[in-house]
Amino acid sequence: MLAACLSAAASAAPPRVSRRVAVIGGGSGGLAAARFLQRAGHRPVLFEAGASLGGVWAEAPTKDVVYQRLQTNLPTVVMQSPDLDFPAGTRSYVSKRELGAYIARYAAEFGGAAAARLGCVVTRVRLEGGGGAEARWRVEWTCGEEACSDVFDAVAVANGHYDKPYEPEVRGQREWLAADSARSVLHSRAYDDAEAFRGEAVLVVGGRSSGVDIARQLHGVAAWVYVLETKCAAPRTDAGLRVTHVPLGARLAADGRVYLGDEPVGGPAVQRLLLATGYCYSFPFLDEAELGMSFEGRRLVTPLYQHLLHARLPTLGFVGIPLAVPCPIPFFECQAAFLAEHWARPAAAPLTSEGERLEWVARRLAAVGERTQDMHFTSAAGGCPWSYMRELIARARAARAQTSGECAARGAESWLEGEEWDSRLRTVEEIYRDRGSRYPTLPWEDDAYRRCEYSVDWASGRWTVVQGE
Ligand SMILES: Cc1cc2nc3c(=O)[nH]c(=O)nc-3n(C[C@H](O)[C@H](O)[C@H](O)COP(=O)(O)OP(=O)(O)OC[C@H]3O[C@@H](n4cnc5c(N)ncnc54)[C@H](O)[C@@H]3O)c2cc1C
Repeated sequence: MLAACLSAAASAAPPRVSRRVAVIGGGSGGLAAARFLQRAGHRPVLFEAGASLGGVWAEAPTKDVVYQRLQTNLPTVVMQSPDLDFPAGTRSYVSKRELGAYIARYAAEFGGAAAARLGCVVTRVRLEGGGGAEARWRVEWTCGEEACSDVFDAVAVANGHYDKPYEPEVRGQREWLAADSARSVLHSRAYDDAEAFRGEAVLVVGGRSSGVDIARQLHGVAAWVYVLETKCAAPRTDAGLRVTHVPLGARLAADGRVYLGDEPVGGPAVQRLLLATGYCYSFPFLDEAELGMSFEGRRLVTPLYQHLLHARLPTLGFVGIPLAVPCPIPFFECQAAFLAEHWARPAAAPLTSEGERLEWVARRLAAVGERTQDMHFTSAAGGCPWSYMRELIARARAARAQTSGECAARGAESWLEGEEWDSRLRTVEEIYRDRGSRYPTLPWEDDAYRRCEYSVDWASGRWTVVQGE
């Protein structure tokens, strides 16, 4: 299956190889993978369990985690691929439907749709023959009643990570729950609409995107909103607004109230606990023991080089592992471009060595220390998502330039070779920072930043923002 793409002229540069790759997942990660694999001369087959492409933004998602009335928390100019703008006239912050339509267009324009097998659930991926740098993979899947299997030269896993809720226990939660049968605990995965909480006192745990969004939606509908999060240094209650900001270390008590030490922090008895605490990684089709991996039910995946490649079995790749990504689609494209170039190398001239990959994993683990949940936050423990993207692209460019053969020529129109991408990324980074500077400091505050409209002249890098009322 592995095919060499030899150029007519003999060359000292390593010849490119074309691999048949199974891509698991048809969300933005899998679609970026399919696109860049094709551009690099590979032959991807994309398996999507659902009936449509787009992942959590699809028309009929397999995981309905995007709640009602959600407006994106990133502007279109930050979210979009450098090669595909949102339609002219689109507002900067869009609905689920608008982002879903954009991703569907991305799939149609860049080959993801053509490579896709919809309604196909990958059930098992295992080594075919021996392991090592050139390991091949038997992929099993079901399409309705039909069970199928085939062998691939590489696998790109892009199944998303919004399936297995991470549900830490708040101190005192059991006593609080046992004291009143009307009390309940819910994860944000099951949250859809604030109306379900009308008139109740709700403790939201977590102050990242979902926690902040949900707290804002609940505000004014629920009887009281508590938000417990790391960013809160000391408890703060606003009785007029019926809100309380709660620091870590607080506990729930059987009387329903929230305490810090022996003191209640203010506000009525909590009736519902809403965990906006994120998700654990899960790959039900991979066997941890067989692959020497650790991930199930955890908030890190090891051993992954650059959050991307199995360090010992580098024909197994992962797109979309990092968390709190500033610009998901361009970010996934960088990952996909690197993966595609890595796999375009023949066994004799690998892009990275096993030693380099394992060393990277060891360094990252040392950097996060006990906070293993920070492993895949590319901004944590001395990391920077923008530098990460630039590094991947620089290495993909260099790798492409070093190889020879028809497959290299096929992707020559890619932005990978141009300087436009670098200047666009600088602009995207500036706009992302501007958006951050407008972000509310307290969870229930007005999200005025979503009423901003950005316009950009990509050629000059000049951009303007207008704050709406
Ligand atoms: C509430 C919420 C709000 C967000 N807001 C924003 C935002 O404003 N802007 C933004 O850019 N991003 C936002 N995100 C991040 C968003 O997750 C990413 O934009 C992007 O959707 C992630 O894409 P993905 O491909 O990694 O995963 P997903 O979109 O989850 O796609 C994974 C796909 O894999 C398929 N799949 C899974 N297992 C299998 C299997 N075994 N076989 C076959 N197919 C399988 C699933 O059906 C799914 O279609 C938000 C996320 C959430 C949860």
